[in-house]
Amino acid sequence: MTGPGISRRSLQNAGINVSFEFFPPASDKMEEALWNSVQRLAPLGPEFVSVTYGAGGSTRERTMRTVARLAKETDLQVAGHLTCVDATINEVDAVVREYWAAGVRSIVALRGDPSGGAGEEFIYRPESYQNAAHLCAGIHAHGGFDIIVSAYPEKHPDSPDFATDIEMLKRKVENGATRAITQFFFDNDLYEAYVERVRRAGIYIPIVPGILPVHNFQKVSTFASRCGTHVPIWLADRFEGLEDDPQTASLVAAAVAADQVMDLIERGVTDFHFYTMNRSNLSFAICHLLGLRAKPVDDGHTEAAA
Ligand code: FAD
Repeated sequence: MTGPGISRRSLQNAGINVSFEFFPPASDKMEEALWNSVQRLAPLGPEFVSVTYGAGGSTRERTMRTVARLAKETDLQVAGHLTCVDATINEVDAVVREYWAAGVRSIVALRGDPSGGAGEEFIYRPESYQNAAHLCAGIHAHGGFDIIVSAYPEKHPDSPDFATDIEMLKRKVENGATRAITQFFFDNDLYEAYVERVRRAGIYIPIVPGILPVHNFQKVSTFASRCGTHVPIWLADRFEGLEDDPQTASLVAAAVAADQVMDLIERGVTDFHFYTMNRSNLSFAICHLLGLRAKPVDDGHTEAAA
């Protein structure tokens, strides 16, 4: 299958790069699901994989354990997420040093959601990094890290307007960020308009679209409303009546995400970040549609060919 206007040949030559985001498992069962997903997705040759840091810094130990294991036991480039909410500058700097000691060389630097989760009021503490730009400066001062940050095609809910939001992105870049990953979105026009705004503001780092395959429409729409992501009517229509039919919902989710990434490729996008939710099936299927293939190699491992 190719998207409208995209030939199979041009897709294979498109030079697609992907990255995968996981969250740290909270139980043995979840741990197994995570490693199964890593094993399935790793042969596709992602540019990097990342591991989230729970709201309010709540998963610090689990994140560190997962990141360290990925760095030690796989050949994958690993990015550790790091938030500065509800922690002092010293505490956050200690995590930066731990990442470095574990061999991690990329950090996704974020202010973070408060412990109550997305949408809760953020309380600024004087002894903390004040926002992601401030945190970028701290990580940059350590040296040696590739710094990745967030970007919001529909603006962050805390930002009064796009200008304020993009000003924050600019400060993050001035303080060392070299790439941004967007909040998930479903309307590619909004992403394109945002990238134009960002470029007009003189920001030239890659703005990599964050793609969230819709594993569960109800959960995704609730989360979207807290994050300020617009859920188009056409998307709700596609999942209507599938509440008790996860198998069909999953097929629809793959089709929806495939449509979205194919359209983005037509608009010139080559890099994609997948919010996997620690499940490999949808992300794997979409990457397959993007032309990525797992290639067996002699030593019993596999590596990707695009
Ligand atoms: P920032 O970029 O610092 O700020 C967001 C907006 O808030 C700014 O645009 C600015 O207008 C406003 N703002 C910031 N500081 C101030 C201030 N001092 N005064 C007034 N307004 C201010 N959350 C987690 O908890 N853990 C994760 O692992 C995680 N990973 C993520 C990965 C990606 C790719 C993305 C897009 C988001 C992720 N999040 C994560 C969610 C993120 O933490 C939240 O969206 C959070 O509310 C903002 O963090 P930020 O780094 O984007 O904030």
